Amino acid sequence: MKLYSTNNKDLSVSFREAVFNSLPSDKGLYMPVEIPSLSSDFIAKLDQYSLQEIALEVAKNLIGNPIPAADLNALIAEALNFDAPVVFLDKHTAVLELFHGPSLAFKDFGARFMSRVMAYLSKEEKNHKVLDVLVATSGDTGGAVALGFLGVAGTRVTILYPKGKVSPVQEQQLTSNDQNIRAIAIDGTFDDCQTLVKEAFNDPELASAFRLTSANSINIARLIPQTFYYFHAYAQLLRQGIKNIVFAVPSGNFGNIGAGLVAHKMGLPVKHFLAATNSNDTVPRFLETDSYEPKPSIQTLSNAMDVGNPSNWIRIMDLFEKDSSLLKEKVTAYAFSDEDTRRGIEELYTDYGYIACPHTAIAYLATEAYKEKNPGDYTAVFLATAHPCKFPEVFPPEILAAIDTPEQVKSLASRPSKKEELGTAFQGFKQWLLANR
Ligand SMILES: *Cc1c(COP(=O)(O)O)cnc(C)c1O
Repeated sequence: MKLYSTNNKDLSVSFREAVFNSLPSDKGLYMPVEIPSLSSDFIAKLDQYSLQEIALEVAKNLIGNPIPAADLNALIAEALNFDAPVVFLDKHTAVLELFHGPSLAFKDFGARFMSRVMAYLSKEEKNHKVLDVLVATSGDTGGAVALGFLGVAGTRVTILYPKGKVSPVQEQQLTSNDQNIRAIAIDGTFDDCQTLVKEAFNDPELASAFRLTSANSINIARLIPQTFYYFHAYAQLLRQGIKNIVFAVPSGNFGNIGAGLVAHKMGLPVKHFLAATNSNDTVPRFLETDSYEPKPSIQTLSNAMDVGNPSNWIRIMDLFEKDSSLLKEKVTAYAFSDEDTRRGIEELYTDYGYIACPHTAIAYLATEAYKEKNPGDYTAVFLATAHPCKFPEVFPPEILAAIDTPEQVKSLASRPSKKEELGTAFQGFKQWLLANR
């Protein structure tokens, strides 16, 4: 697999380089030079394959040489040790549940796969330093990454999250891991956290003191495994004789929907994609006005999507050769307020007896909005990106009482929590890193 930078088409780096650098030095994002098409035979027979078989075929085609198929297979088996079922609400509406991993959010796919890819590629190097993973999170990434790397030899994770802007369960997930995981509460927004991480990567002194790498959705090793479940969802619908699918994706940094669009480019037949955002509506505004104007992030009920300047957006533009009219043929974007979100949650519960987290409810609202304007015989599949029990403060008492809390969360509260607190100034963060080697 060769990758270029979205700021420089002539650059060509190896998979290993892209994984460990995470960002090209020109501050673009890595993208595959070639996105291979899967054989039409494989696509036609998707219903015969398991999630793991699908993952192997997709990953083999994308990654190629750097990881031999047998090793890739073992890595996938370890990383994807949980299911991603499609649950039908009715013939034309279904949910793809991506929250059955250890952190109860879809980011487990990316984090668990990436941590094992990094450990695998590190093992092959002589005299390597500890691999220091820096993560900015608006909530769920950090938990998934922490659990993804927890106890993986030769790695250490530092998580930055916006103080007071993640849910209590999320905070407990970020701060109670110990071992090779550290958490820092930053007195600012998610964008501030992301800026600190970006600055750290561009700092020469830190670059020589540490072997730094990123675990954000910007890392190419996070994007790859997120393509798997789109194929796997299609496989499950195919088993019901359904071929005409619209995917609705709760979107913040746009990594998840970006992976869906890569899957589509590899040959997955998808009628249309819906990008569903909260009031952080930079992309819906862009598709309406053709003018990309990022804004500072706004705090909402769906806090994992509180992103004012989605970092993966540039990748999506590249997939469509920066042609927004091509893009609009395949992607429609919707923004919903907190009030809408509460309505979506209530509606799903009363109409279908289904309890969705606020992010998931927003994707559901997008399917409803799309269906209203686009009647036809297709099935709208909205992605459930987190388990509702992670957001107890969002639900009215009746719905809250009906949520089944999984074991992972029940045991969480009793674990001791530990965190550092820092401001948004880069110097402070840098000094802390140097003082805590
Ligand atoms: C991260 C996250 C999102 C947004 O995904 P992106 O890939 O950043 O667009 C949506 N829902 C939940 C629960 C998340 O954790």
